Amino acid sequence: MNIFKRKQTKTIKLGDILIGGGNTVSVQSMLKTGKLNIAVEQCIELENAGCDIVRLAVPDLETAEWIPELKKHTSMPLIADIHFDYKLAIASLENGIDGLRINPGNIGSEENVRKIVDRLKDKKIPVRIGVNSGSINKKYLDKYGVCPESLVESALEHVRILEKLNYEEIKISVKASSVPMMINSYRILSEKVDYPLHLGVTEAGTDFAGTIKSSVGIGTLLAEGIGDTIRVSLTESPVNEIHVAHELLKSLELVEGMEFVSCPTCGRTKIDIISLAKKVEKALERFKEYPLKIAVMGCIVNGPGEAREADFGIAGGIGEGLIFSKGEILKKVKEQDLLPELVKIIENHLSSNNE
Ligand code: SF4
Repeated sequence: MNIFKRKQTKTIKLGDILIGGGNTVSVQSMLKTGKLNIAVEQCIELENAGCDIVRLAVPDLETAEWIPELKKHTSMPLIADIHFDYKLAIASLENGIDGLRINPGNIGSEENVRKIVDRLKDKKIPVRIGVNSGSINKKYLDKYGVCPESLVESALEHVRILEKLNYEEIKISVKASSVPMMINSYRILSEKVDYPLHLGVTEAGTDFAGTIKSSVGIGTLLAEGIGDTIRVSLTESPVNEIHVAHELLKSLELVEGMEFVSCPTCGRTKIDIISLAKKVEKALERFKEYPLKIAVMGCIVNGPGEAREADFGIAGGIGEGLIFSKGEILKKVKEQDLLPELVKIIENHLSSNNE
């Protein structure tokens, strides 16, 4: 579908989701609560929003026991995020976790790593090795400082530990909060390994700045064919992360879905196109998986022509407006009827296509 040649990475399986090997780029988020009832709600909301994979921090044994309850409410694969304590990894595996995020070099003796890997092998449960600027191995930190080389070398050291135990169901991330550092780290890593890569800008920030940083970092790499799964990290609700991730993938034409275009407006517009464009997006939210391009344009003189590629669109005039398709005018309607008429035409189009 898209023009980017994606790197052919190894395919791993996480629950029912295939990651790498040219499979659709999957979208991840993380539960943002220390309470089980809220975690259940977030799982349901994330799945409804189109999240593919969800991760939860497992800081103690009590949280590892949430896993069966969460799985009752979602079909998304769950990943346990474990730092340092191998017993938490074992407990998560015993409770039915689908994947682990763990750095094997940080969990003590080789014997402890082996205990985890033996259990992983039984079910082919994948592991994400995730290094970020805060978890660079001291040896590389002293040698290189915080830079792409130290991030990548630290990650590869963890990879070698698993490879030595003949375990290769691995994906890797080398996130940084600096976008240039993150981009360069993944570029270097991608040259060195064929494992699937999980992309993200860490501590990206709040909705606005975080969306821009994540889009630039993740988008640049995806456009180079690098990346098999992504997480947009925002200091926001997890559902917002999914909305941004989907827009990002749609903008690169890596996934299909409804695409909205709207003109920036100029002195020719006579209607409140800013609020109309938002209302159109909201009204068509329920059709978001259909690959249609919808335009909202500010004037009837140039709107239909400028949005010639749109499957359907509206253009505002003085007290009335046009509904058009592929640059051709379908009908003229009163201003207040633009949105309901557009929705009706799209509903009819989709139902006639589904017959
Ligand atoms: Fe201006 Fe019309 Fe173009 Fe919108 S469509 S930018 S209002 S000329």
